[in-house]
Amino acid sequence: MSSEMRPEFRVGTGFDFHSFEEGQTLVLGGVVIPHDRGLKGHSDADALLHAIMDALLGAAGLKDIGSYFPNTDPRYREISSLLLLEKVYRLVRGKGFSVGNVDLTVIAEEPRIYPHIEAMKANLARTLHLQPDQIGIKATTMEGKGPIGRREGLAVQAVALLIKEK
Ligand code: MG
Repeated sequence: MSSEMRPEFRVGTGFDFHSFEEGQTLVLGGVVIPHDRGLKGHSDADALLHAIMDALLGAAGLKDIGSYFPNTDPRYREISSLLLLEKVYRLVRGKGFSVGNVDLTVIAEEPRIYPHIEAMKANLARTLHLQPDQIGIKATTMEGKGPIGRREGLAVQAVALLIKEK
């Protein structure tokens, strides 16, 4: 195989934190999770999808999600972040990339994430045209320390690999 036939691999990372707020619905990975509080934000505040979008955009050498979907724009008020992820997927495809795999860590003291992971994976698989085994979703806590440990919010860390066939 000549060198110009080798696929190009690009890696990107994303991170997002949102504060909990009373009276909000908690949505993570496009899944509504029963909880006494939700995340505060302009869109549906889906920190998992925001982190994966930034990872995909970063890997493609594009700008961050705030540049494409400004939180001052009324079009994005309370929008489902799955719709934004679809747009990001099209941007990435438009640059000639497909997604190799994504891996996510939810950092939260509460609620329990594990019962919802399969539903989150199904949403990511459908939107990013992936098989479930190309998606990792894990959860950990801060052992009671810091703002996450005090249950003031949660964070998500993401990594994405993009592949361009040449
Ligand atoms: Mg966000």
